[in-house]
Amino acid sequence: MPKCESCGERFNWGKIYRSIYSWKGYKPFYCDNCGVKHMINMVGRMTAGIFTVIPMMVFMLILTPFEDVFIKLGAGLLIFLLGTLITPYLVNYEEET
Ligand SMILES: [Zn+2]
Repeated sequence: MPKCESCGERFNWGKIYRSIYSWKGYKPFYCDNCGVKHMINMVGRMTAGIFTVIPMMVFMLILTPFEDVFIKLGAGLLIFLLGTLITPYLVNYEEET
């Protein structure tokens, strides 16, 4: 789980999740403890993409055992959602001024 670069406070999962998967794209957030603004960094953005979009695409386009397009989409979406659940543990943040 990412920590505050300034005070070392651990960010909670929900806060990071909302910052990555907001409707407006990546959103900065503030540390609860010291108020420093944090933004996901480039590596974090790539990590989020690698763990969500890529497994979904690979499954839907290459590995899929299903013929039915709706099952395929549903399973792809499920894989995407599973990816979003784990990315908050893996991404990196940096202070933004
Ligand atoms: Zn802090």
